Amino acid sequence: MIEEFIQWYENINKARAKDYYAPHKPITILYALVKAANDVRWIEFNKDREKLESIISEFTKYSTRPNCLQPLWRLTNDSKTMPFWTTQPSNIVLNSKGDIPTGSAKENNFKAGFSDEVYNKLKENKAHIHALIRYITEDNFPGSLHETLWELLGVFDLEVQAPPQETITTTVTKVKRDPKFPKLILSLYGNQCACCGLKINFKNNTALSMEAAHIKWKARGGDCNEHNGLALCPTHHYTFDRGIWTLNSDYRIELSDSILINRKNDNFFTPYIGESIGRFILNEELLPSVGNIEWHRKNILK
Ligand SMILES: [Zn+2]
Repeated sequence: MIEEFIQWYENINKARAKDYYAPHKPITILYALVKAANDVRWIEFNKDREKLESIISEFTKYSTRPNCLQPLWRLTNDSKTMPFWTTQPSNIVLNSKGDIPTGSAKENNFKAGFSDEVYNKLKENKAHIHALIRYITEDNFPGSLHETLWELLGVFDLEVQAPPQETITTTVTKVKRDPKFPKLILSLYGNQCACCGLKINFKNNTALSMEAAHIKWKARGGDCNEHNGLALCPTHHYTFDRGIWTLNSDYRIELSDSILINRKNDNFFTPYIGESIGRFILNEELLPSVGNIEWHRKNILK
């Protein structure tokens, strides 16, 4: 079952093909998996719309609110050969783009979810649900964001918690990270945060608390090399992955226009705006590639 589910998921038409980050369908599937874990059969447009759209909007570039009706309906198009996704009622008249008009969805109490067979199989084996939640999360988001996403989805509230990683077969772990990447990146920046310069020495362990961030997310095909990494403290790592700040093509730190902070009292971002990450790098030939920085600006910066 789990392998078939992954096969269906891998074949869905995701926006990633255009190198543009739009995780509407994966988040919708995750939302349905959490529902199944709670023995809830359907995502109901009228009931779930607000919550689902607010989760999608947290992880998308656009400031305009996404319309969850599109992934809820369009996942049926991805289920022509493998009938994993279904909707009700079946008699709604589509618009010229082949989508369901919002008014009709509301009037008809439009619902979407896994097919009966898939839903029942998932209910029988909730460890599979957790394995799939982990697989789809890792496939779409860097580790720094998993907790936020799972909190919003309600994964931590589920009665059956995720089985330990080692009990999940290798077939459900796709995003392979190079174990040498953190050391490579941290040493390149002298174990300092490339944004704020923080470096903690504790019992000769200078790498303490520093993390290696992928500029182009590993989950979106980014490389594990020097030209795609930044050494960052945990907060600058998280905020970089959330799109609160980025780099311009001169490697200078730039804050999103969407973030509202009191610049007079802020010691966390304001002092570093316009500073170059080149001030900490030990080998300037190994600065990040402009292509990776552009990817981050285009896809992740809010
Ligand atoms: Zn920092």
